[in-house]
Amino acid sequence: MISEDVLIYDTTLRDGTQGEQINFTAEEKLRIAQRLDDTGFHYIEGGWPGSNPKDMRFFELAKGVKFKHARLTAFGSTRKPCIRPEDCPNLQAMLKAETPAATIFGKSWDLHVREILQTSPEENLAMVEDSIKFLKSKGKEVIFDAEHFFDGYKANSRYALQVIERAATAGADMIVLCDTNGGTMPHEITDIITHVVPLIPLHRLGIHAHNDCGLAVANSLAAVRTGVKMVQGTVNGFGERCGNANLITIICNLQLKMGKKCIADDHLIQLSNLANFVSDVANIPPVSYRPYVGRSAFAHKGGIHVSAVAKNASAYEHIKPELVGNKQRVLVSDLAGKSNIEYKAKEMGIDLGADELTSRKILQEIKNMEDAGYQFDAAEGSLELLIRKITGEFKEPFEFESFQVINSKTGDNPSQCLATVKVTVGDEEEITAAEGNGPVNALDNALRKALTKFYPQICEMHLVDFKVRIVEGSEGTAAQVRVLLDSRDDHDLWSTIGVSTNVIEASWHALVDSIQFKLSKDKLNRHNR
Ligand SMILES: [Zn+2]
Repeated sequence: MISEDVLIYDTTLRDGTQGEQINFTAEEKLRIAQRLDDTGFHYIEGGWPGSNPKDMRFFELAKGVKFKHARLTAFGSTRKPCIRPEDCPNLQAMLKAETPAATIFGKSWDLHVREILQTSPEENLAMVEDSIKFLKSKGKEVIFDAEHFFDGYKANSRYALQVIERAATAGADMIVLCDTNGGTMPHEITDIITHVVPLIPLHRLGIHAHNDCGLAVANSLAAVRTGVKMVQGTVNGFGERCGNANLITIICNLQLKMGKKCIADDHLIQLSNLANFVSDVANIPPVSYRPYVGRSAFAHKGGIHVSAVAKNASAYEHIKPELVGNKQRVLVSDLAGKSNIEYKAKEMGIDLGADELTSRKILQEIKNMEDAGYQFDAAEGSLELLIRKITGEFKEPFEFESFQVINSKTGDNPSQCLATVKVTVGDEEEITAAEGNGPVNALDNALRKALTKFYPQICEMHLVDFKVRIVEGSEGTAAQVRVLLDSRDDHDLWSTIGVSTNVIEASWHALVDSIQFKLSKDKLNRHNR
């Protein structure tokens, strides 16, 4: 069934959840597992059924799911010292998970055997052997994680090798060498694995690396270079301390740089979506500069870069972004050149014409505004509006007359805000007032109230994020502030910006842009239909 060069083993749902701020419900785990399966991963470690009821519930839910590609595996430790495997609650819980594979970890560093387990080296060997034999007798595919293998090898190579050799003779299908503390260098990984190979063939070996030295991906690739068959890691590198090896980066590197097959090409293009999906479920904003799949991975900002990639993308891109489901982006800022503006306008479907006057005018306006504290690469919604306004593609849907915000607080009661807004739409003047739990919320409510009568689609949008920054180079409470708003409706997410010395005024500008952007895009969609 398997013709892949490398087997991808995902532990996002177990090791990944040991990362700070990473938590999944059993239902969320199941959704992630199904996505991993859809992307062609070979093994999914669902959790540690012996350690908590949530993981046990996940395995209960998973019993009703048929996986197309992946084998589900339950994680656990070897039997406890001085008991029989049949009597070990941890191994019993693993059996109850009813998975085709079982992954057990055992100690291969004598320091851990003596000081942490507080048992004898012989008993630890027996624990490894008995547990593997027990799981094999129940028909499981057994994966043995040799915890701290590389540190163990450096401290006492004879014992570390004895542990994995015992695991292999007991029948473990895979022996995974773990750099649990993440302190090993790539050349050490290669050296140590060459000493393992005479004892255990490469097709039964795997690697599990942590990122404490920023080397988890490099170490995993070094291990594959020596010939090991399995790579363990997590999506986005989630995991304890500095995280696990990032499987997304590893798969891209193996497949696109090293010619090692792990997943199908049409699964490769799902990787950007998968990485974002797992971040979304974890409620952790996706880091934009993740290799291959980050939003910035193929974003060009410098004018020279943009004019070069317009001629030939490979001038500043190491692969075609579409191969991994990502896309080229061009950012517009005060570092931009004419090419950035032309690229952006084309993307928006606007023809700037042959003469360069319009693009120069747009560029000048952007440079002036960035000088005043705007930052357009973080607010593409405001940028798009600006271009549409200068090219005459967008007419202001309402005129601003005035606003007022009253903020009051009495004693220990929560503060209250009241905003009034006066706008003109066509020849109708509209004055509204609304309350809110803060000044921006009150303004947002009042502005919507004034406009929904004319533009009911405003009800479809809402604010999802609000960020305030002091503009660099200005100081103290009189400083310029920059407000960035993220808004969304059912179809899109967009960012807008406002700058002022007054935080409420800056918020107002960002709010107005946000609503105008919504109206502009809806109008275009109507024309497109
Ligand atoms: Zn780990």
